[in-house]
Amino acid sequence: MDKLSVQETKSKKGGRAKKAKTQKAEMTKNVLIVGVGGQGVIMISKVLALLCQTQGYQVKQSEVHGMAKRGGGVFSHVRFGEEVWSPTIPMGEADVLIALEWAEGLRWLPHLKHDTGIFIADTQQIVPPFACRNRTAGAQTAYVKETPTEILEKVADGYALDAGGFAEELGNSRVANTILLGALSASLDFADEDWLNIIAKFVPKGSEKVNEQAFMKGRDWIIEVRENPEEMPREATQPEMPIPPAGDVDISLDIIDDWCKSCDICVRLCPERCLELNEQQIVRLKKPDACTGCRLCEWLCPDFAITVNRTPVNKKKEAA
Ligand code: SF4
Ligand code: SF4
Repeated sequence: MDKLSVQETKSKKGGRAKKAKTQKAEMTKNVLIVGVGGQGVIMISKVLALLCQTQGYQVKQSEVHGMAKRGGGVFSHVRFGEEVWSPTIPMGEADVLIALEWAEGLRWLPHLKHDTGIFIADTQQIVPPFACRNRTAGAQTAYVKETPTEILEKVADGYALDAGGFAEELGNSRVANTILLGALSASLDFADEDWLNIIAKFVPKGSEKVNEQAFMKGRDWIIEVRENPEEMPREATQPEMPIPPAGDVDISLDIIDDWCKSCDICVRLCPERCLELNEQQIVRLKKPDACTGCRLCEWLCPDFAITVNRTPVNKKKEAA
C-alpha cells in the first residue's frame, strides 16, 4: 500500500467515524424544563435523567436555579442518547420544551426545534414582582399577553394544560409537576411503570399514590387531546391585579403553618411590608390594615402556604 492510499484509507475511516459520531449526536434527545423557583423543575429533570440512565442511555443534565429563592426563573437541560457530547441544548435544538409557568415557556420558545419541537406548558401564571409595579385600582400587570391560541399556532406540536387546576382536583396542589411529567411521558418511549418507579424515589413518603394519579392524569390528558384537539384550553386567564376599593372587600390570609418553610420570600417581597415571621419562624400578617390583597405573597410562596381571600362586603352581609 503506498503512502497516498494509506492517507485515503485513513481519510475514509476518519469520514466514517465522523459520520457515526454525527449520527449518534443526532440521536440525542433534548428536553428543556423551565419554570420558577419552587415549582419542581429540578425534580422533573432528575426523574427524567435517572429514568434515562436506568434505560442504558448516556445522560447529561445541567441546571440553573440561582434566583429560585426569590421567585426567579429556573431551567434544566436534559440530554440523553447513545453518546452525548455537551450538557446544554443549543438554540433551536430542544425536542421537547416543558414549561411549568406560562411566561417562562414563552421566554424559552427559541430553544425549541422549529419543525418538530413539542411544547407542553402549564397555563399557570406566576407574576413576578417587577411586573406588578402599578398597584392602583384596576391596574394590569406587565405580564406577557400572548394566549395559548396565539402560541400554539406558532409551534409544530403544542399543548397548553391547566396542570395547577388538575392538581387541585386531585386534592394536592403540589403535584402539578408530576402531571407535567405524565404529559411528557406521552412523547417519550418509556413504560409507565418505569416512570412511576423513578417518581416514587423523588416524592415525599405517603404521596406516592396521588403522584401516580397525577402522572396518569397528565399522560391521559395529552393522549386524549391528541385525538380531540378541540378539548385543549385556548385562553389562559391573566391574573387580575385590581386593588379593591377600601371598604368594598374584606381581605384575609389563610396560612398553612405546616407548609411554611420560613424562606422569608413573602416577607421581603410584600409591597406593603405587612408580613413577618413569628417566633416559630412561620409567616403571619402583622399589619392587616395595610394589606391590599394584591396576592403577591400567594403567587410567590414556593410552598403554597398562603391563600389570599378577598370577599366582597355585600356577599358577607348576604351570608350573615
Ligand atoms: S409563607 Fe413561608 S414558605 Fe411561603 S414564602 Fe412565606 S415564608 Fe416562604
Ligand atoms: S396580599 Fe397583602 S400580605 Fe400578601 S403581598 Fe399583598 S399586601 Fe402583602
